[in-house]
Amino acid sequence: MPYTPQAEAKRSVRVPLLDLQAQYAPLREVLLDAVTRVCDSQRFIMGSEIEALERELASYLDVRHTIGVSSGTDALLMSLMALEIGAGDEVITSTYSFFASAGSIVRAGARPVLVDVEPDTCNLDPSAVEAAVTPRTRAIVPVHLFGQSADLDPILTTARRHGLAVVEDAAQAIGARYKGRRVGGIGDVGCFSFFPSKNLGGFGDAGLVTTSDDRWAARLRMLRNHGMEPKYYHQIVGGNFRLDALQAAVLRAKLPHLDAWTDGRRRNAERYHMLFASSPAASRVSLPTARAASFHVYHQFVIQVDDRDGLRRHLEACDIGTEVYYPVPLHQQPCFAGLGCPPGEFPHAERAAARSLALPIYSELTEIQQAWVVESISEYYR
Ligand SMILES: *Cc1c(COP(=O)(O)O)cnc(C)c1O
Repeated sequence: MPYTPQAEAKRSVRVPLLDLQAQYAPLREVLLDAVTRVCDSQRFIMGSEIEALERELASYLDVRHTIGVSSGTDALLMSLMALEIGAGDEVITSTYSFFASAGSIVRAGARPVLVDVEPDTCNLDPSAVEAAVTPRTRAIVPVHLFGQSADLDPILTTARRHGLAVVEDAAQAIGARYKGRRVGGIGDVGCFSFFPSKNLGGFGDAGLVTTSDDRWAARLRMLRNHGMEPKYYHQIVGGNFRLDALQAAVLRAKLPHLDAWTDGRRRNAERYHMLFASSPAASRVSLPTARAASFHVYHQFVIQVDDRDGLRRHLEACDIGTEVYYPVPLHQQPCFAGLGCPPGEFPHAERAAARSLALPIYSELTEIQQAWVVESISEYYR
């Protein structure tokens, strides 16, 4: 770029992939008050903060039961444990997801049956799910990838036809909707993560399980605390899957802002679409598709491009943070070599893994920063 004062000003724009400081700064006092309240109470395990958060989330997610837990990964594991899924059982999930979606199936003692995704949304392909059902199948774990609901209706139809449970992995999709309904409350059980970089993030690890079934809710509450009820009488073998009171207090302080943050992410996604429409690189970049029936919460804004790694290096040199979700589909992970899925088995997932790049999308992103991102991408493909 030739030297001009405008070019120089742009060169000084930094765009991190995620800027948690920008979210924290205006809420600092409220958050520190919440932490102080817990410290002053000296009640760190279970108690009123957790109960209050569970009530507030039940109302937000429009679901009967919410069980605060230690992480999104543990939420998935506990859900399978509550459904008594284990040795000899098969569970169908997406090969294009964060590791925990399939890892928790193995930890429960069952066999993950990985299937391919839709090429545009990168969500579980319902026809591939139907084709993967065997007499051993017990459950389906649809992942609402990048903040958009999987196409749940045909998946629920398959589940009902074969008597399978549906455990939604909604870790990336709090607040997202499918045909008007909040995800996590549509299948039998829903799993959420409050990992700090998720759309609603704690100050450490935390998660949530949701269900409308009273018996499963009771089982999940027991599993969370060593299957213990009453104290020191163990009905089932559970674990320590409890949510910390400190995390609950932080999440309660943040929850009232979640919808505004989601609006910001959606506005930024729209702005990327506008900026790319008039970019000379428009034909080189495929933008994420949002289904008409879904309310996308843009946990990530993932584009697909040729020469992804070259673009990523160029953007790094422009001080623009990006990430690859995910570079290796689950069927190609070393730990799943035993599943016997050869390369080429799931072409849509493999193509997405080679071409995906997540751009900054967080709510506090400015117009200037977004313009710089699109301009830098355009420059690379010029
Ligand atoms: C983050 C995530 C998880 C795991 O959540 P943790 O709270 O990090 O354990 C599970 N599934 C998906 C799709 C995720 O993105």
